[in-house]
Formats: sequence, structure tokens, C-alpha cells
Amino acid sequence: MKRGTVAAALGAALVTGAMAWANVCPMCLQAIPDTEKYCVRHKAEQIAKVNAAAEEKKLMAELVQARKDYLARLEKLRVFYSDRGNADCLRRVQKEAADFGRIEPFSPALWETQLPDLSAVENSAEANQLLAEGNELRGGSNPFTRSSRYAAAAAKYRQVLENHPKSTATSSAAWGLGEIYSSSSYKEYARAVRFYDMCYVINPETEHDALYRAAQVTESELHDYETAARYYWLAAKMGRNPLVREHAATRLRGLQKNGFGAAFSLETRGTDPVTPGNVEVPATEKK
Ligand SMILES: [Zn+2]
Repeated sequence: MKRGTVAAALGAALVTGAMAWANVCPMCLQAIPDTEKYCVRHKAEQIAKVNAAAEEKKLMAELVQARKDYLARLEKLRVFYSDRGNADCLRRVQKEAADFGRIEPFSPALWETQLPDLSAVENSAEANQLLAEGNELRGGSNPFTRSSRYAAAAAKYRQVLENHPKSTATSSAAWGLGEIYSSSSYKEYARAVRFYDMCYVINPETEHDALYRAAQVTESELHDYETAARYYWLAAKMGRNPLVREHAATRLRGLQKNGFGAAFSLETRGTDPVTPGNVEVPATEKK
């Protein structure tokens, strides 16, 4: 039975696969050549994101260097007045140095904007270990230690993404971060949605209901109903769990009744409202 299904799927892939349009863009479900990860529009968006992160990194490095130079010059001036016994100027220079020490230097709080390109292609024992440790910390049941466990778990997941960006553990690490940031310990909802999105984009066949959670948080916490509709639409089409797909479709229809997500049709094939594609709705969804 399973074998037959696989054979049938392969047959279908062969029929439509003459041009090797085997992939779909994870953001809009448009069919794309199997050499690509995104459609043209979303590829451009991804490149812009990577370029912006590189530019931010460069500007931050310049700022950090400028702070160091500034302190070094202040120190030279301090020595100058100290050598000459100019107590008045010495005091004022020292005050400036002390004032500078009290400022909170800006740094980008969102480390995830600086991540390397993520993909789930390598099996890394070290990354799997970090993921397992993160999951264990996050899954603990003692509510009194929750905040500290979540912080420790987030650090483990972060190590997976930063140090093992090509490992198969990345998608689940992103999921774990979504769960942590959307929890009542953090309430960083926009951030949580970015991690749910990341979980799905790294691995569109993820076992986690990442799209559905992204939709829920976007709807109920961020009140961005148009974006929520897009996530429900993706979840209804791509979710692994049939029950969750059904819930997503129901929620999408609810939003549509209120005037949101009108372009996200579940019935037609083709789908992406902005860049129409030619993806067929899987037969299992027709039920
Ligand atoms: Zn796309």
C-alpha cells in the first residue's frame, strides 16, 4: 500500500518532472525548479535580508571600534593633564570617562538577524545533543524553574543555529525558540513568529505545526489578520497533520468572513495570490 503510494507519487513526479520543477517555494507554494529554494520574488527577499544583516554587522563593528578609539583618546588626554598636574582638567576628563561608562551601549538584541544561511542537510551529533538538552530543559515540568530553564534551553537552541547552521537539528531548534518566545515567560510574539517561520522554511516537511502556531500567534497576539490568513493558508495546504490542516482552513474561512485574506483561496489550484503558480492541491486535502 505504502509502496504503491510512493510509486504513484514518483510516477506523477516523472510526468511533471521533465523540466525538473520538483520543488515549491515555502513562502507561496509556487512551483520552482528543483535547483532553487525559493521563487524569484522570495529569493530576492531572502537575498535582501542577508545583505541587510551583513550591512548591520559592518556598521556595528565600526561603532564598536569607534567606542574603543574614543576611550583611547580620552585616556591620552587624562595622562596629559595628569603629567602636568592640571587637577581641574583632569577631574573633568575623568568625569567624561565615568559618564561614558554609565551609558548602555547599543547592540542588536536580535541575534537571529545575524545567522548564517540555515539548511537541514547534515546530521551532526553535537547539534543533536544540544537540541536534546534544549528540549529536556524546555520540557521540564517544574513551573517554579520555568524562566531559568527556558533561558538555558534558548541558549542551547541558539548554539545549534549559530554553530551548526547546516544540521538537521536546526528546524526543531527554531521550533523550540518559537515555543519559548511565545510563552508567558517571554511574550515576544513577533520574534516567536519569526522562529516558527524559520522552522518551516528550513524544513517544509517538519513534524511541528510551525505554520499553524505562526498563524495563531499572529492572529491572537499580533492582531495582524492579513498575515495570519497567509499562515493559515500555508498551514491548510502544507501541514503534516490532517486535523491541524482542517483547523487552519476553518480559521482562514473565519478571517475571510471578516474581510481578511480574501486572496488566499483553498479551493483553486495555483494558489499564490501575488505570483500565481501551478501547484496541485494534494488529493488527500480534498476529502
Ligand atoms: Zn515564493
